[in-house]
Amino acid sequence: MNLRNYTRDKSARKSRKDSEFFLSKARCLILDLRVLLLNRLMTLYHCLGQDALDCLEITYKYPGQMLLVSEIQVKRLLEMDLVEFRHSQGWRPNWWGLAVLNWHRQLREARDRKIALPPKPGEGENGEHLGPPCENFRELLFSGVYCWCGRLRSDHLDQAPETALRFLGYHERSRTLQPPQTRISGRSFREVVKELPSDLCDMLEPIHPQGATMHQLYHLLGGRIRFLAIQESLNFLLERDLVFLLHLR
Ligand SMILES: [Zn+2]
Repeated sequence: MNLRNYTRDKSARKSRKDSEFFLSKARCLILDLRVLLLNRLMTLYHCLGQDALDCLEITYKYPGQMLLVSEIQVKRLLEMDLVEFRHSQGWRPNWWGLAVLNWHRQLREARDRKIALPPKPGEGENGEHLGPPCENFRELLFSGVYCWCGRLRSDHLDQAPETALRFLGYHERSRTLQPPQTRISGRSFREVVKELPSDLCDMLEPIHPQGATMHQLYHLLGGRIRFLAIQESLNFLLERDLVFLLHLR
């Protein structure tokens, strides 16, 4: 090897070593950030009592309903920098407020449905806003359709096989002659209740026995939920035979 090649080779090895070093540093940094986020989230969550958490949930669910929220609790949430004032919408949870609220709802759902390890948020995720790219669906248990990264289940490639199987199962049952109104999934009531996320339970409530169109449902739910999310939620309910499609002529 001549001197020129040797020098080039040595500098290539050095730059490869440098890039490996920086990559491992970057990985550590990402891990550190994730730990920091989780630590901050847990600290904020454990600093709040039940009344403050209830108040945070009200500010999210009932925008503009100022009389529903307790002044003392809003003061506490404001001190912890979890809410902000948005004129006609009144007090609303900010980014961290949403992270804390979604973690609270996640734990409550896991407890009610006896799920041992509820999925946790990653770096830059609060369950509401769009987070960094995500390849691993971590369900917000209370929604049934959203991931911690703020995207729907259908936006995750790792969910495609499971969704396809469920869809096939639904079509298989639809091919039978049994009328859709009386079709049952074959699961026990206890199983269905355990599987049913609370947001989807709330979605079933306003549907009149005579049914509702997608647009009517959108308005019944206060226009707060994305059309695509309603569609995906209905698919979840359809696949479990909890709703049925009425074909109008
Ligand atoms: Zn995701």
